Amino acid sequence: MSYIKRVLDIVIKKNPNEPEFLQAATEVLETLEPVFEEHPEYQKAGILERFVEPERQIIFRVPWIDDYGKVQVNRGYRVQFNSAIGPYKGGLRFHPSVYIGVIKFLAFEQILKNSLTGLSIGGAKGGSDFDPKGKSDNEVMKFCQSFMTELYRHVGADLDVPAGDIGVGAREIGYLYGQYKRIKNVYEGVLTGKGLSYGGSLMRTEATGYGLIYFVEEMLKSKNENFKNKKIVISGSGNVAIYAAKKAKEMGGIIIAMSDSNGYIHNEDGIDIDTVQQGKEIERKRIKECYLPNTSTKYADNCKDIWQLKCDIALPCAAENEIGENEAKALIKNGCIAVGEGANMPCTPKAIELFIKNNVLFGPAKAANAGGVATSALEMQQNSMRTSWTFEEVDNKLKNIMKNIYYKCSQASEKYGFKGNLLAGANIAGFLKVAEAMYAQGVV
Ligand code: NDP
Repeated sequence: MSYIKRVLDIVIKKNPNEPEFLQAATEVLETLEPVFEEHPEYQKAGILERFVEPERQIIFRVPWIDDYGKVQVNRGYRVQFNSAIGPYKGGLRFHPSVYIGVIKFLAFEQILKNSLTGLSIGGAKGGSDFDPKGKSDNEVMKFCQSFMTELYRHVGADLDVPAGDIGVGAREIGYLYGQYKRIKNVYEGVLTGKGLSYGGSLMRTEATGYGLIYFVEEMLKSKNENFKNKKIVISGSGNVAIYAAKKAKEMGGIIIAMSDSNGYIHNEDGIDIDTVQQGKEIERKRIKECYLPNTSTKYADNCKDIWQLKCDIALPCAAENEIGENEAKALIKNGCIAVGEGANMPCTPKAIELFIKNNVLFGPAKAANAGGVATSALEMQQNSMRTSWTFEEVDNKLKNIMKNIYYKCSQASEKYGFKGNLLAGANIAGFLKVAEAMYAQGVV
């Protein structure tokens, strides 16, 4: 039995109730065979067995009192997966679906994503099963303060620097930061995605969505294509989706549909992104309330059906496994030429296989959505230097980072026998740097 198969068997045996983590680990490990052929010393050093085991997992109680005086209890998580190449870094997700398996898969992916950025950051992720939707600002603040009252022991500017993810935006980061500062009595860059008035970086809000478009632009160039007049479907209408939509439109694309977990809005001539942004970001409305009634935009009730629309480019920016075999087949049949993963693991392994087999350009999440964490690392640099760069400076750095990530993935895929498979390229390029650092640091 091959080394990789043996390690995968151990992972499956040890984590039987964590399907998301198993899916991510399988997808990565299955592409690493050529790395171990080239580096037999990594096998001797047990790199893979250590790579799939988190350095530390923290689970804690988060009690808080709601607006009616009732005690509520949520569960908090931080998985510090790998610090071989830098301090732990990765977002916090507040969503009812959060449990250890989701956080572990996200932290695992984060190791490779962070490595691909070329910056010195290790992989982590955290969150809670708390649902900010429908809660008052006061309740969100109480929850965030309680969450940080435990988390502060485990994070720090040179130790672990969380950021936002689903359900954690500027408001939540602000409350978390305030509580950290109050408890620790230090003013340091312990979180990224901060407001501009207290150490945030220009462009961080836009970074994941913009970065996704810069990455897809490079993919399109490889086929002498670009965004001009391309019909684009984007799932979600949160942070990633909104800024991907704005940048794609700026580059000449036509955003024909966007969604939330209830349904989607659709207009073949292009939906009005500013109305979506105002409704979602500022007024916290549902997508069905985010279009002007006197236009030809229509609302449909089932968010999954968005992938049945005919489009040139598909950008899943919402949830795990939202594009399965049927959705992939529909996209291919309708002539889609490129898929860029803005969300983490939005395409199932079967869907990815179909895209690659049918020559649909496929940008895997760990590469295509790395712009957010890359800009978070730029925020850390600015905090350490006690300076702030202009929007253009950060945007240019982000563009270069996304281009470099694309070329790293593309080159690794060719060198290791996976031409046309950027997912394999991303796994290998990301893994090589981490493995080298782990090997150099001995068995720890
Ligand atoms: P947000 O919370 O800002 O937005 C999430 C959006 O997805 C909401 O519009 C939500 O709708 C929608 N959604 C959730 N489930 C579904 C579904 N099943 N179908 C359609 N829409 C759905 O999160 P982000 O934009 O920050 O994150 C989105 C994805 O991008 C996640 O996978 C995240 O891990 C990933 N990501 C985010 C980064 C960042 O910088 N923010 C960085 C890298 C990756 P509703 O309001 O109904 O829940």
